[in-house]
Amino acid sequence: MVNKVNATTNERIFRRKRNALVEELREKGIKDDSVLKAIGAIPRHEFVDSALWHRAYEDSALPIEMGQTISQPFTVASQTELMQVKPGDKVLEIGTGSGYQCAVLCEMGAKVYTVERHRELTERSRQILHKLGYRAMFKCGDGTLGWSAYGPYDAIVVTAGAPVVPEDLREQLAVGGRLVVPVGDEERQLMLRIVRTDDESFEQEQFAHFKFVPLIGKQGWGH
Ligand code: SAM
Repeated sequence: MVNKVNATTNERIFRRKRNALVEELREKGIKDDSVLKAIGAIPRHEFVDSALWHRAYEDSALPIEMGQTISQPFTVASQTELMQVKPGDKVLEIGTGSGYQCAVLCEMGAKVYTVERHRELTERSRQILHKLGYRAMFKCGDGTLGWSAYGPYDAIVVTAGAPVVPEDLREQLAVGGRLVVPVGDEERQLMLRIVRTDDESFEQEQFAHFKFVPLIGKQGWGH
């Protein structure tokens, strides 16, 4: 009985903090209501160790297993906004990490395919998404090569910092598809959006600088 009361109190506190986070992201410039609504719905604390629950709704990156991070909510919101996701879109995520970005995309109604190079993270995020009732396709492997079996994709997001735009990811975009990828050195990366305008042509836009953990793989940093 006491545990049940504690759980309800925790849920209420988390919901209040989540709403405050959504307001903070809005003030920082996130405009897309479907992105903000998804962030307001996802229990971010479920994606981090319980020792970090008190920080789960801060706008900051937090450590997860294998020396990796769950991205800062502002970063997740910015990348998702740039992807221009609509319900039913087929979306590829490179860098599953905690599974949080994947859950945001599922909540927005996308069909999500996600690739992570660490098996431990793939398995853990698969379990969390299942527990929360989201369905996604998980793969452990080198995401710089994409996941061609299910392409082409309406949107692709890379959640680790790349030295160059991975060619295979560009090629797995549908016409009209958007690739959102941070590109730069190991210190900071410029957020790029590449739109496939027809079979042969792409347009590229540049946004703000961010700092990500490195994208390690054949078309990323050496491994
Ligand atoms: N999207 C994640 C989330 O919501 O928690 C954030 C992920 S973290 C910032 C970046 C992830 O990319 C790490 O888990 C890292 O292991 C993974 N990664 C790095 N290089 C990769 C590659 N070539 N293929 C797949 N995953 C990769």
